Amino acid sequence: MSPPIYINGKYFSKEDAKISVYDHGLLYGDGVFEGMRTYSNKVFRLDEHIDRLYESARAILLTIPMSKQEMIDAVKKTVELSGLSDSYIRLVVTRGSGSLGLDPNRTSDPQVIIIVDLIALYDRKYYDEGLKIITASTIRNHPAALSPRIKSLNYLNNIMAKLEGLQAGCMEAIMLNHKGEVAECTGDNIFIVKRGQLLTPSADSGILEGITRNAILELANTLKIPARETTLTRHDLLVADECFLTGSAAEVIPVVSIDSRPIGDGKVGPTTKQLMIEFKKLVVR
Ligand code: PMP
Repeated sequence: MSPPIYINGKYFSKEDAKISVYDHGLLYGDGVFEGMRTYSNKVFRLDEHIDRLYESARAILLTIPMSKQEMIDAVKKTVELSGLSDSYIRLVVTRGSGSLGLDPNRTSDPQVIIIVDLIALYDRKYYDEGLKIITASTIRNHPAALSPRIKSLNYLNNIMAKLEGLQAGCMEAIMLNHKGEVAECTGDNIFIVKRGQLLTPSADSGILEGITRNAILELANTLKIPARETTLTRHDLLVADECFLTGSAAEVIPVVSIDSRPIGDGKVGPTTKQLMIEFKKLVVR
């Protein structure tokens, strides 16, 4: 039996967990979400995810019908009921059902959904061998059109880039911003290592400020690996010594080739390996 799914305070089986076809989350991608992981029954950086969820909601003028503490308690309870000690959590808040027009003021009853399940974003072998990725021609949303800092239910921008990657036989794709700088991948943040220094696009590069990204920057600080948030171009990536991606679902995954060019010596680099090991230790602490 699959783990029970939380919808607005009640629990349903996977088959019975349903919301209205008039929900603006479905009709317009009008809503926000979070993806988190549990390690040994504990949600990794739950408070940070909840803060980001409420910030995303605030940015789209969506009032979540429960307090942060109630949300934290609901997530923990759903994790407990799932019986899974290592899991992936998808927390979704929709605008609720309304009319067929766009007007958010004509919606009511936002739906709070918590799904706890297993996820394997990439085949295990890529964590050993590294991913081969491409640069997508689809750029990241212009921050003045829709801020990439909002984790909204509208992921079409990322999906278009993901499709480009898949069509090129790659599991991920790099997205540039409107200035032609490197932003992030379709569902992960990106890092490079150059001459012993860890570099990642800064928050103003038009990225979702990943919680895993921040954890890696903190780890680098602890491990005395020099790290900097900066502007990166595709050129910087192509001449990097190492490259890896981070995300709640992906965790830390190496990249060994970009646009059919090997990164460094084309093998998973030592700093990437070290951070993968240290990240594993951090999450089970
Ligand atoms: N960028 C995008 C576009 C994402 O969707 C995600 C989350 N899947 C990330 C980066 C990584 O963020 P986090 O580490 O908080 O999961």
